[in-house]
Amino acid sequence: MFKNAYIQRVYEKVSKRDSDQQEFLQAVQEVFESLEPVVERHPEYENAAILERLVEPERLVKFRVAWVDDSGKVQVNRGYRVQFNSAIGPYKGGLRFHPTVSESVVKFLGFEQILKNSLTTLPMGGGKGGSDFDPKGKSDAEVMRFCQAFMTELQRHIGQFTDVPAGDINVGSREIGYLFGQYKRVRDEYSGVLTGKNLEFGGSLVRTEATGYGLCYYTQEALKVLRNDSFKDKTVVISGSGNVAIFAAQKAISLGANVVTVSDSNGYIYDPQGIDVELVKRIKLEQRGRIKEYADLTDHAGVEYHEGCEGIWTVPCNIALPCATQNEINEQSARTLVENGCTVVCEGANMPSTPEAISVYKNANVLYGPAKAANAGGVAVSGLEMSQNSYRLSWSFGEADKKLQDIMQNIVSNSLAAAKEYGAEGDLMTGANIAGFEKVAQAMLAQGVL
Ligand code: NDP
Repeated sequence: MFKNAYIQRVYEKVSKRDSDQQEFLQAVQEVFESLEPVVERHPEYENAAILERLVEPERLVKFRVAWVDDSGKVQVNRGYRVQFNSAIGPYKGGLRFHPTVSESVVKFLGFEQILKNSLTTLPMGGGKGGSDFDPKGKSDAEVMRFCQAFMTELQRHIGQFTDVPAGDINVGSREIGYLFGQYKRVRDEYSGVLTGKNLEFGGSLVRTEATGYGLCYYTQEALKVLRNDSFKDKTVVISGSGNVAIFAAQKAISLGANVVTVSDSNGYIYDPQGIDVELVKRIKLEQRGRIKEYADLTDHAGVEYHEGCEGIWTVPCNIALPCATQNEINEQSARTLVENGCTVVCEGANMPSTPEAISVYKNANVLYGPAKAANAGGVAVSGLEMSQNSYRLSWSFGEADKKLQDIMQNIVSNSLAAAKEYGAEGDLMTGANIAGFEKVAQAMLAQGVL
């Protein structure tokens, strides 16, 4: 599969050892494809077994989370934290609460996080975690009891200088608040051990908006540099209706685009007049409702609700911003996007495109912004939150937003510079993988065999 014998050997080993971890292997394969010219130029990486070490987490903890539901019944979930790589800083990465969370899912997310965090240029290693707990349909009290039980175990593995988790799917400010409270209670310590906190207890302005805004800053910069173009007057399809989707829609609209879709795991909304972001916020963030309610509550004419998620990629657009979950765009959906005129795909979600979909983008010369670069704004502002907690100060919205814009622009330029250096000019995916990897590899070499 790989031309380079070293990469082939390491991939064979990892695919044998972790043969049941499909998402993790998919993430490793994508990165390895980009790294062939790098390991050829740097034989010292093979000598120091850098790739073998990169694909093996420094630590993975898996634990029981027992809690009591509102009817008095004892429930048992499984919790995870993967501490993947600490070469360039404390482990950093979100917690996901979703029934699909497994060892493979946290490992793919943690592996991606190593390179993503490196790309931000901030000192953060890679980690990720979560649980198969499903908050849908649970009361606030149940979510609180679950978070307290989860943190009672997790607290022994994390700390402001070792591992600093944040949110991800179904872990927003409510959950971070409960998790932070329990950490403080058990450890008797008030520290910046989590990011994504509310402003009253150490949160950073712009953290809520950061991933969605960052995605648009990245896309805007890539459009400018590679196409001499912008969001202005573009039709944009966005999937999801959570934290990332909502703030991506808000920013894309403010940059002059017409965003015509949002979705959840049941179906999608098509609104030809343009999505009303405040209404989506009300339904999804305030009422924790379903996106189909948009069709009943809007005063826009021509709004359609469609059951099922895949159909969203049949809506004609210039720019697609997948912001829901992994592998949501397959080969067929990618083909349909391209046939209908889509020329830009930038990823808000983690690994939303299958490898076959990415091949379709490449063959059709689509401007493709891979997740680990395009959605790095969230963790970047988490890094800024850590700095503010250490200094015990807070930056204004404008200051934090400016830093976010600078970071996203740098990610585009560093990715393009790395791609050019290794003969893949204009390829944002190859460039992101190489730029993220080289810094981590150099740090690992310098720190010896660990
Ligand atoms: P939220 O929980 O806020 O929203 C997730 C959205 O995706 C919801 O609309 C949800 O619908 C939908 N969704 C979840 N699972 C599926 C599924 N299997 N099929 C279809 N739709 C689904 O999460 P975020 O917005 O925070 O995260 C979205 C993506 O962005 C994830 O891939 C995450 O890893 C990534 N990301 C998030 C960052 C952050 O800062 N939050 C940072 C970087 C990446 P429903 O309500 O029906 O479940």
